[in-house]
Order: sequence, then C-alpha cells, then structure tokens
Amino acid sequence: MNKRWTIDKIKEFVEKNSDSTLLTTEYHGFSQKLLFRCACGNQFEKNFTKFKNKHQRKCDVCQPPKQSR
Ligand SMILES: [Zn+2]
Repeated sequence: MNKRWTIDKIKEFVEKNSDSTLLTTEYHGFSQKLLFRCACGNQFEKNFTKFKNKHQRKCDVCQPPKQSR
C-alpha cells in the first residue's frame, strides 16, 4: 500500500492539512528533509514521514519536538 508521493501531492497535502507552506521543489524520498515555512514565518526542515505520520506540522517554536517537563 505504498503510495507514491510526488512533490505536487506533498505540496497539496501540506496546504490542505496544515498552516505551513512547502518550500522544497523537488522530492527524492521519505528520508529527505523538506523545507517548510510555518504560519508564524519561521522556516523549518522535516522529512515528510514525520510531517504526515507524526503530525509535526509546525516549526520547533510553535510545536517543540519534545515536551520536556
Ligand atoms: Zn511556527
């Protein structure tokens, strides 16, 4: 059930499912870090697996990677 993602589909997914914008224009695979721009204006890198499956869809400021208490 591997869905083949293209940069266009990823861009569409990002726009529909987050407030972030995809800045990367080429997609080479799931391990690639993609460059996004968060709604706050910050840019951040994240591979698409994390973005999609782990709901890490904002920059580290708006959504810190780990919640430390
Ligand atoms: Zn942000």
